[in-house]
Parts: sequence; structure tokens; C-alpha cells
Amino acid sequence: MKSVDTKVREIKLFIDGEYVTSSSHSLFEVKNPATQEVIAKVHEATKEDVDRACKAARRAFEEGPWRTMPVKERCEKIRRMAEIIMERREELARLEATDVGKPYSVAFEKEIPRSAHNLKFFADFIEQLGGEVYPMEEEYLNYTRYEPVGVAALITPWNLPFMLTTWKLGPCLAAGNTAVIKPAEATPLTVSLLGEIAKEAGIPDGVVNVVHGFGPNSTGEFLTAHPEVDLISFTGETTTGKAIMKTGADTLKRVSFELGGKAANIIFEDADLHKAIPVSIQAAFLNSGQVCLAGSRILVQRSIFDEFVARFKKAAEELVVGDPQDPRTNMGPLVSEEHYKKVTSYLEIAKQENATLITGGKRPSNLPDYLKNGFYLEPTVYVHENPEARICQEEIFGPVVTIIPFDTEEEAVQIANNTQYGLNGVIWTENLQRAHRISHQVRAGTIWVNCWFVRDLRAPFGGFKKSGIGREGGKHSLEFFTEAKNICIALQ
Ligand code: NAD
Repeated sequence: MKSVDTKVREIKLFIDGEYVTSSSHSLFEVKNPATQEVIAKVHEATKEDVDRACKAARRAFEEGPWRTMPVKERCEKIRRMAEIIMERREELARLEATDVGKPYSVAFEKEIPRSAHNLKFFADFIEQLGGEVYPMEEEYLNYTRYEPVGVAALITPWNLPFMLTTWKLGPCLAAGNTAVIKPAEATPLTVSLLGEIAKEAGIPDGVVNVVHGFGPNSTGEFLTAHPEVDLISFTGETTTGKAIMKTGADTLKRVSFELGGKAANIIFEDADLHKAIPVSIQAAFLNSGQVCLAGSRILVQRSIFDEFVARFKKAAEELVVGDPQDPRTNMGPLVSEEHYKKVTSYLEIAKQENATLITGGKRPSNLPDYLKNGFYLEPTVYVHENPEARICQEEIFGPVVTIIPFDTEEEAVQIANNTQYGLNGVIWTENLQRAHRISHQVRAGTIWVNCWFVRDLRAPFGGFKKSGIGREGGKHSLEFFTEAKNICIALQ
């Protein structure tokens, strides 16, 4: 199937169990990034629409039955959502590929199943969750309960729309909260279906609401300012996190932020390059490099530098850039014109900073005619000696990576930590002691040794420094989405 999707969908808001139009009747367009054809007209939620969604979520929280129903029953409904997602896997993967420009194969094989798993995992997890008991001598007994917090705003970016929304929705719902979801304006297609999926699964009206629109002075800001919203789980840019924190401060909202990254992928001279090169290529170019966990700074020990650069260049040039719907495609376009302009502005910056271009840096020349308007960029690799250069410091969020040489372990750690971000790091070495030593020294929330992007949903996920606040995953998500209550009973 080619990226010629001529259907223009109307995407409505999902409020209190119904798809409804925007109260202002204002619609915005969404384009297929591979072709620039309009694929959807989306209702933009006004302040009044956001107010209705938040009040519906509040009523569903206070009046029940969601919060008060037996946990098993609640979790069965969430598991049913996961089943419906798997039943609609092909349709969801097709939509995600059309909306984001990511290869259909990646959406079908990885992201949609992972989205279903996000829901199922947290439903299973919370069913097993106990509390603590603290006996005080013979006279008193303390025990804990984990209760839902209230109405959660779940705000997500465009790079993994369905996966990241379900990653928040799973623990939010399993803990008994209600939700108002706001997907990114560039990619609302799959997330908008969560309304009907929730309804079909028997989730009561008002528990899951979806509003569409932009960030500042629009839906996003109305939501984060709304007094009925108790907590905000946000994934996106660091600067947006700062704005949301300010807006939410007046009503003292609890926040969980997953923000930007600029991970160091450190290749020591004893690394197994047969493994390190293909995984580093994935870490650099998966989803066209539009991944917060991308290994976009590749630090390579000088003794193997030339060999690594030559082999990495060859592997980057072998990637198939093309139609997201084609199963042979490794890399699709960038998500939007605005983002394409941002990413390609770094090509100019790299030139000014005297970076050495190894490969890429332009539009692929062999694209078929029907993709000629797509926002395509070749996998682009630079070498730079100066880790302070802007291309080594700023999150480009595209298929652009820089390889930086280092001599010693100390220098590798120093370069890795010389960034405002701290989401993740990657280490390639066959030396066990070194693997542990460097893992402890790199200041980031996740360290992968001889692998990348491997996730156990029980493990904490989140960033040090400007990469985030709080952690998601297993009990860490539930710490955010629950209130711990202590009950103290006199025994005499
Ligand atoms: P973004 O911050 O521009 O937008 C994210 C969401 O926030 C969108 O829904 C947007 O409409 C909304 N928003 C924007 N301004 C707002 C405001 N003032 N108030 C309320 N909502 C607002 O991010 P993006 O460009 O969509 O996504 C890319 C960014 O996301 C990158 O920085 C990337 O690293 C980050 N990201 C982080 C993780 C992680 O887990 N740490 C995962 C994926 C993406």
C-alpha cells in the first residue's frame, strides 16, 4: 500500500462518552508527512469544551462507579481495552504510519502491541498491589491504602502518540482516576479512537475524555490551568514542561514530566562492533531520529574511531528511506513542515560550527514522484571534536547524529555528563567492571549496556536534570497516580 490516503477524516472531541464538535466549530488540518495531503480536519477544543471535559471527568470521579468499583472489575475493563486494540491492530498501525510518517512495520510490530500491553500490564499490576502494615506495639495498628487522586490531564507528543498515551492511561485508570487526554495537534488520529475503544470496553462515560488542539493559549493551556484537574502527566519538550509547571502552579497540580534528551552512546575500544553498529544505527535513526531516547551523541574511543566512522557511515547509507507504508522502508519523513525546518536549520548550524559531514545532509534523491512533497531528510552523520558545539548539545530530534572522539574513560564520562539532559545513556564494552563503573557515573535515568530501547515495564523510567520530574513504570507510575493514605487503629 502506498502513502496515498485520500480520505479526509473528521476528528471530533470525545467528552462524557460522546463524540462532539467544537463549540466554536473551529477545525484545523492534519497532513500526511510523506505527501503533505490533508488527512484529517480536527475539532479544536475551546475553553468551554475543555471545561466540559474536565467537569465530566470530575463527575465521573466523584460520583462513580469507576473509583469505587471492585478493582478486579475495573481492571477487566482496562484489559478489554487492550484486547480491542489488538483486534484493531492493523487499522491503528496504518493510521499511526499515515499520521506520524513512521514505518507501518514498526507501528504494527512494536508500538500497537506495546500500547495494548501498557494497559494490560497496569491492570494486572494494580490487581496485585498490596499496602503496608505498621504495628505499633500492642496498642495501635497502622495500615496503608493507595487511593486515586482525581482528574488527570494526560498530554502527549507526536512522536509515539498512541504508545505514550496508553503508557499514561494504563496506570491512571487502573488506580481509579479519570482522564482528559490531549494528544499532539500534529498526530491526533489514533488517540482520538481511545474514546470509542473505552466505551466498547464498558468504561463508564466521563472516565476517558479526549480533547484536541494546540498548546499555548489553546486546549493544552486551558487544560493545565483548569481547577478541576488535580494532576498532569506530560511528555514533550523541556521548555513546554516549564510552561506547564507555571500554569499548573496556581492550582498546585501534581506533575510528572518526561522531557527531552541528548543521550551519549559510548563505544569503548573493546566493544563488539558487530552488535554496537546496528544497534547504534537504530538508536540514531529509528522513527527518523524523533525519539527522546535517541543515541544522538556517539562517543567513540580514538583507537577505533576511524573504523567505527567508516562502518557506521556504510550502515547509515544502507537504510531505506521511503514510503512509511512500504514494508521495506526503514525511515520515513519528519513529522511536519515546521519540524523539518527546525531539524534542517541544524545543517546550517553544523556548517557554521565546522562539523565534518560524513554522510547525508540533504533530501534523498531517489524518492518516487508521489513522495516529492514529503519532509524527507537522509540519515545524516557528523564528526565533531568539540562536545560543546550546538549540534552536540541541543536536541535536534531528527535523523542527525554527531560522532565525538574520546581518549580515556574519564573523558567519556565528562563528555556524557556535559549536557542539561539526563534521560538515558548507552555503553558498549566487553569489560564487566567498566560497564558497571561507567553506568554508575553517567547521570541519566536509564543506562543500557550493550543494548538500547529494552524496557521492562516494572522498571523506573524518567530523566535526571532537565529531562524530567518523577518516574513512570510499575510502582513508580502508581506513586504518581495514587494518594497514599495511612489508617491508624487503636486496638484497645
Ligand atoms: P511539545 O512539548 O511541543 O508538545 C507536547 C504536547 O504538549 C503537545 O500535545 C502540545 O500540544 C502540548 N503543549 C505545548 N505547549 C503547551 C502548553 N503551553 N500547555 C499545555 N500543553 C502544551 O513536544 P513535541 O514536539 O510534541 O514532542 C517532542 C518532544 O517530546 C521532544 O523534546 C522529546 O524529547 C520529548 N519526548 C520525551 C519523551 C520522554 O519519555 N522523556 C518521550 C517522547 C518525546
